[in-house]
Amino acid sequence: MARLIEELRKLPGIGAKSAQRLAFHILRSSAADADALSDAVRELKAKLRLCSVCNNITDVDPCVYCSSPTRNQRQVCVVEEPTSIAVIERTRSYNGVYHVLHGTLSPLHGVGPEHLRTGSLTVRAERGEIDEAILATSPTLEGEATASLLADLLKPYPVRITRIATGVPAGSDIEYADEVTMTRALEGRREV
Ligand SMILES: [Zn+2]
Repeated sequence: MARLIEELRKLPGIGAKSAQRLAFHILRSSAADADALSDAVRELKAKLRLCSVCNNITDVDPCVYCSSPTRNQRQVCVVEEPTSIAVIERTRSYNGVYHVLHGTLSPLHGVGPEHLRTGSLTVRAERGEIDEAILATSPTLEGEATASLLADLLKPYPVRITRIATGVPAGSDIEYADEVTMTRALEGRREV
């Protein structure tokens, strides 16, 4: 029990009390439910990986987007997290591919340019594989700083660099944008 509580406490947003509450919940749940939870955790680590092209979380490498013959492989939408892809996919108005940074610049939290996964994006740009990079980071302080870092990184290459419009409310996370807002943000993107 103490071991489980200790492990749960390592999760973000879980304090001592929550960890204890979750551990008791698991103790009281059926053996099947407990097995399902531990299997899900184990399989997550065993089967899922990051796409070697775009860093999306995937069980096949390259991921479904990067290996799709019907998507425009030369138009790349750069997002903060893999979850942002779902927001853009829901618009049904985007048919390019993605690049996932796994974070945003945040000097206050010790996240510098070296912590973002930008390497494979600049490699693609250098090889001339990208026509347009759409910077779809959130219109927050961190997201804007990240977008300008990306614009600087891509500037040496013949890539059209665009930024999504502020149809997404300023200061909010794109995770919470609805389909209409996100579609407008994509359509209204402007050159950087
Ligand atoms: Zn991919």
